[in-house]
Amino acid sequence: MKTIAILPGDGIGPEIIAEAIKVLEVLQQDGLDVQLEQALVGGAAIDATGHPLPAETLALAKQADAVLLGAVGGYKWEQLDIAIRPEKGLLGLRSELELFANLRPALLFPELASASTLKAEVVENLDLLIVRELTGGIYFGEPRGVRTFDSGERQGFNTLVYTETEIERIARVAFDSAQKRNKRLCSVDKANVLESTELWREVVTTVSKDYPDVELSHMYVDNAAMQLVREPKQFDVIVTTNMFGDILSDLASQLTGSIGMLPSASLDANNKGMYEPIHGSAPDIAGKNLANPLATILSVAMLLRYSFNQETFAERIETAVSKVLQAGLRTQDIASENTKLVTTSEMGDAVVAAIKENK
Ligand code: NAD
Repeated sequence: MKTIAILPGDGIGPEIIAEAIKVLEVLQQDGLDVQLEQALVGGAAIDATGHPLPAETLALAKQADAVLLGAVGGYKWEQLDIAIRPEKGLLGLRSELELFANLRPALLFPELASASTLKAEVVENLDLLIVRELTGGIYFGEPRGVRTFDSGERQGFNTLVYTETEIERIARVAFDSAQKRNKRLCSVDKANVLESTELWREVVTTVSKDYPDVELSHMYVDNAAMQLVREPKQFDVIVTTNMFGDILSDLASQLTGSIGMLPSASLDANNKGMYEPIHGSAPDIAGKNLANPLATILSVAMLLRYSFNQETFAERIETAVSKVLQAGLRTQDIASENTKLVTTSEMGDAVVAAIKENK
């Protein structure tokens, strides 16, 4: 039996997680052998214990086989010292669990093509995955800081560093992901200018020898940004550094135009992961039963696929979401003409019903 640590967090977190739990419970009835354990994180944990990541929560997250997180943060905690804000709970989990691989799919259900700012034909059926290195690169490299020269002028500096080991492990996650998809991997770097990414390119190429069934290509990051907007459907899986991935994954998520739809995974070396929607706690709509729970429900599908290798259950969830959208059901963030407006809980119930229908 596997354990999932469930951390609802703040704002809309508890509402969207409640719908994800309904989905897990219906799959449990069909033989999914998991046990769910809840704990506090973020602002909710600050209110109860004074700390955004209580020791009890961290212990549960470490001992569990996977973590499902809602969202953290909200107006109430914005005045607190930065060291104990809700977001620290999230960053603490990422570093304590050594989640170095961030997987961000940009998947557009055909029914939502009009939600994108790009032309429908450019994004219709878009299904790409960005694998971003999450714990290395320029965001963590030393030395870093701001120094003052004798002349009095100041200079800011950061260091872009990657070891072969760091590159190899993220490359393997990306190749493994590509193997489960359409077997095409594009590695994005700036090898024409940056030595560290010249090494990146070399190591990714070496790793590719272990994955002869995956077609590897390389692209400079400036071109990749352009290609993502010009013809995003040319990509299957993209692997890239921490900073390039930060920028490109936000760009890619916006191709789909619907923040309430996109799941994400952050994995460690053993494919243990933390799964969460890409959006935040949406304090403006919290407690109103208005939030879109689909990004969280799709995060459950990713959890089952990547951490538990339960492809059939993952597909059942994704098919159910697709069916519900085909039936015209929409929460307010994705509503358009001729669709049926539903609440958070009604959307969750509809997904559960579609899962039950499709055994
Ligand atoms: P946000 O993603 O919470 O909200 C941005 C906009 O999108 C809002 O108008 C919100 O109503 C809407 N939205 C977001 N998720 C939605 C959903 N599921 N359904 C319908 N509409 C949705 O970003 P923000 O407003 O910049 O941040 C709010 C709080 O969330 C802040 O405290 C921030 O620090 C935190 N945050 C947390 C995470 C996380 O937990 N991973 C990520 C980003 C922001």
